[in-house]
Amino acid sequence: MISKNLSNILDSLGFTSSNNSSPKDSNMYSVYNGYLTTVSCNSNKVFVYFNFRFIESDENNLKKYNISNSVSSMMNKYDISDYSITSTGLRITSACNDESIAELLDECTSLLLGHNVRGAEYCSECGNKFGSRNPKKVTINSENYIMCEHCAVMAIEDSKKIDNEPVNEDSKGKAKGVIFSVLGGIIGFFLYVLAYTVIIPWIKELKLGDVRYIFCALGCVVAVLAYFGYRIFCKKIDTTAYVTISISSLIFAALGQLIGSVLGFIAEGGYRFSSLLNKHFWLVHLRNTIPEESAGEFINRSAEFYKLFGISMLFAAIGTAIFILTLKEKSKPKIKEINIETLKLS
Ligand SMILES: [Zn+2]
Repeated sequence: MISKNLSNILDSLGFTSSNNSSPKDSNMYSVYNGYLTTVSCNSNKVFVYFNFRFIESDENNLKKYNISNSVSSMMNKYDISDYSITSTGLRITSACNDESIAELLDECTSLLLGHNVRGAEYCSECGNKFGSRNPKKVTINSENYIMCEHCAVMAIEDSKKIDNEPVNEDSKGKAKGVIFSVLGGIIGFFLYVLAYTVIIPWIKELKLGDVRYIFCALGCVVAVLAYFGYRIFCKKIDTTAYVTISISSLIFAALGQLIGSVLGFIAEGGYRFSSLLNKHFWLVHLRNTIPEESAGEFINRSAEFYKLFGISMLFAAIGTAIFILTLKEKSKPKIKEINIETLKLS
């Protein structure tokens, strides 16, 4: 909640109270020095949010870096405990006294202006310039966004979609996510076994060359299965999701490559499965067991195995990384409250 003192100060700076939010989520906003700025408070901390559109580009990444450095150098002066700059604006958490807030706002907006960051003349969602029509102020969870009519309507549609989405019970959904991610990994593991005991020997018979390297891409397939196993049963994305999907992918790809190779070796040599009880059948892939004097007569299976193993793990890691990055993209903050009004810019 914004204190009376801060409210008076902001009032004198031309800020307005968002009248349609609950007192707990109260915030004040203004188009301050050309940027739609929101100020809200929570337990002696002031949150300042400058909303603007910052599309991904090399130039903007450099600007982001420079702005971030400048804010970092302001941390002591304004008692800033946290800040972030994203594609939709700059957020600052500060414990500065109320009297310093004007200075903080001035310093930040001149920093943005100094870097030619496009302000309230552009939609913060699509980046288009507002024509003669007045922009919309969209309040989402006590942060204000300036948008064109089209994007404001889309934001409302999105908030409806999120509201209607069935939300899994936290721990239950998570437990299911973990179990099915592991099951996905196990299916991937069996694909390795199938490849090494059936498909690769069959291709070998056709004399199409050594295709084992191609089958390392199964590492990626394991990652896909571990990912979908989790996502289908748990929509919530948090550390559990990241850890489960990564570990499940890497472990089952590793086991698939190792046990697949061993079983393939047994199938190829026509050995009985009981020979698995003999540790040498496992060691042949893990370390070079060929005596030096007869190195020329036998294939060095461990050297081959580690090459294949490395490639498989690389595929699993790349697959996991791709999915984890898309997860980040989708995990937007849940919309509790959304309000739209028309802003009149003077
Ligand atoms: Zn727009």
